[in-house]
Amino acid sequence: RVKEKWASTRIKHPATGLALQNFDSIYSGQLGLLWPSVRAALLSERKYGALLNNYGHDDVQAELQAKGCKDFPSDIETEAQPCLEQEPAVAGEEESSHVSVNKSDLDAQQHPALQLSPNIKCLVFPRGDITRFKPARPDMFGCLGYYLMDAASVLPCLALNVQEGHNVLDLCAAPGGKTLALLQTKSIGFFGINDASVSRTTRLRKVLHSYVPKPLLSDEKLRITTFDGTKWGEIEKNTFDRVLVDVPCTTDRHSLMENDNNIFSKNRTGERRRLPQLQLDLLLAGIEAACPGGEILYSTCTLSQIQNLSVVEQAIHTAREDHGIQLQVVDLRPLTHMFRKTFDFAPDLPLGEMVVPHLAANFGPIYMCKLRRLT
Ligand code: SAM
Repeated sequence: RVKEKWASTRIKHPATGLALQNFDSIYSGQLGLLWPSVRAALLSERKYGALLNNYGHDDVQAELQAKGCKDFPSDIETEAQPCLEQEPAVAGEEESSHVSVNKSDLDAQQHPALQLSPNIKCLVFPRGDITRFKPARPDMFGCLGYYLMDAASVLPCLALNVQEGHNVLDLCAAPGGKTLALLQTKSIGFFGINDASVSRTTRLRKVLHSYVPKPLLSDEKLRITTFDGTKWGEIEKNTFDRVLVDVPCTTDRHSLMENDNNIFSKNRTGERRRLPQLQLDLLLAGIEAACPGGEILYSTCTLSQIQNLSVVEQAIHTAREDHGIQLQVVDLRPLTHMFRKTFDFAPDLPLGEMVVPHLAANFGPIYMCKLRRLT
């Protein structure tokens, strides 16, 4: 009897189960032999990194290092890195309306090495070590020493390569992990921080106030808005040196683990189907917001090709055809080469790079693709 009652109150099609069905059918084709191990990792406890707060006063880095952590951005491979000298290709110069850019095109050109934002520190336990971090403690001024986040989420911020005095836009910023990582560079001239969700922006404000001293959050240095990011091109064109477009996506790991607020729940089917169009509109707005010569970093936390590669391809095409903007795809292989000890990257993606979860390095998924505006 007890069993019957339980059976009648049980959710028939939990969203997490629907997500797993969807991923099994799509990612087994997309990732092939890699999918079973990625699947196992996605269904296991994720690993965090501790983004070090440069505005804190305690020597948290030494404390974490004493426990066996390493700052992954500075703990890089030092042997010869032949691909460091290669870089991007001009995207979409061919006559055909379909954009096809791949890494063999990238090999053809010689460019300066990829540069990464300095000052961003993120401590992780070594590969295979699943020790958990304790929650961060406030220092004597109430500032927290580190922010726990997926260490792979730090990669888009590093790759954005913010330089001294840059105007930066974070188009979809809440709850603020990447915003906080970008602030660690201490190089930003003006920082536009935006997210369409008012409640998530409230969380973001709380995060910033727990980590960054008040004077640095003043209006002339930083502006927090809750606009629809897809409209940014109409508001502020050709303005920013760096734009982060960290779009809403199927958040694969969350979708497998949590039934609450799950994009695979039946009542959110329409929203889920509209995601690629929303992602495209946001990326196009980010491209328009960047100044000529400026750089745009597109990122997601899904393995889905439709939300990653297809969105970037379509954006490159539409930017050229509808807005007269030529873009160059920046080769991120130097970054994957540098951080291959810490993360597992998907092999041979035609466009962009992706951290794939692995049981011994259970970060990601994070997809990222960097574009440079030529016109
Ligand atoms: N960058 C954030 C971080 O690192 O903490 C995570 C961003 S999350 C992946 C995507 C965000 O996009 C959500 O906070 C969501 O509210 C926001 N969003 C959704 N639609 C939007 C739109 N039209 N304009 C701006 N932001 C939007």
